[in-house]
Amino acid sequence: ALTIGIVGLPNVGKSTMFNALTKNNVLAANYPFATIEPNVGVVPLPDPRLKVLAGIFGSQAILPATVSFVDIAGIVKGASEGEGLGNKFLANIREADAICQVVRAFVDDDVHHVDGKVSPSSDLETINTELILADLQTLEKAVPRLEKEVKGKKTDRAVYEAAVAAQKILEEGNTLSSQGFDVSDIRELGLLTAKPFIYVFNVDESQLTDEAFQAEMQKLVAPADAIFLNAQLESEVAELDEDEAKELLESVGITEPGLEQLAHKGFNTLGLQTYLTAGPKETRAWTIHKGWTAPQAAGVIHTDFQKGFIKAEIISFDDLVECGSVAEARAKGKARMEGKDYVMADGDVVEFRFNV
Ligand code: GDP
Repeated sequence: ALTIGIVGLPNVGKSTMFNALTKNNVLAANYPFATIEPNVGVVPLPDPRLKVLAGIFGSQAILPATVSFVDIAGIVKGASEGEGLGNKFLANIREADAICQVVRAFVDDDVHHVDGKVSPSSDLETINTELILADLQTLEKAVPRLEKEVKGKKTDRAVYEAAVAAQKILEEGNTLSSQGFDVSDIRELGLLTAKPFIYVFNVDESQLTDEAFQAEMQKLVAPADAIFLNAQLESEVAELDEDEAKELLESVGITEPGLEQLAHKGFNTLGLQTYLTAGPKETRAWTIHKGWTAPQAAGVIHTDFQKGFIKAEIISFDDLVECGSVAEARAKGKARMEGKDYVMADGDVVEFRFNV
């Protein structure tokens, strides 16, 4: 499964946020595997459509799509030198498909800051510098090797040129993703700063609604997305029932829990979307990549569905809700039979027909 690695300096609130992410009881019941690895949190992707479908079909259970987060041990200055924690850190982060960087903005004299002061911009710089140095080390070895391979006609010149271009961006102190670098030619190098980034600012309650402050932080990380949350508040919210949670959030002036925003942003950043299946047993969201065809989507349920794919009966969520039932949707011509070239749309409600 695709995972998002959580990184950040020590004491910025990573563990607090990660624990809040993994506190969801509903999920623990539906996905017993969610706790197999202590540093992996499987988080449900909130989707109000599921409840509506479950109502139409009388489903007993609802299974949302999930996003997996990996808690990666704290990064510190010097991590790229690969000593102790550094090596393990780099290995873990290399395996992540996207990176969620947690940055401290909250001020609390009782919580020690590694550099002695709270400064989001210098924290961002510290972490980015470590990641940039790690990538430069990778390229220092790769570029001469690729050069030789090009001479020996074992590698395309374009690959070597991409590596040199990446090196230049990094030497100028920029991450690859911030410059929109196309990493497709040198993906095997596993460059860290080429991964998609999401920034989470762990803020004071007062900053949750401070638009000027948030705009300033967003500018620091553009073109990446920034999310603003209070990790302590999020961990309280995660333990409340829906109504109580809503009330607590309203009392600080926000409507959507920060962790839900994070799950949505993470899902988008990874280039994913969902389609839906429903019946008396369960209503379920299935995760696919944007642009996948109907047979590829069927393969997520079972490889046999992909192999034996005949066609898919598809009703868009909105049409189904408007019609109120599958029978009515069929009668009104809203149920489409799609073949193997059909490209799935987000929120398609699907029933696959296949040979076994
Ligand atoms: P980590 O080292 O990044 O994993 O940080 P922790 O999650 O362990 O948090 C470090 C300390 O900061 C703990 O004492 C937390 O209770 C505290 N902390 C975390 N988030 C917040 C926050 O939003 N506000 C305040 N005031 N303290 C926080």
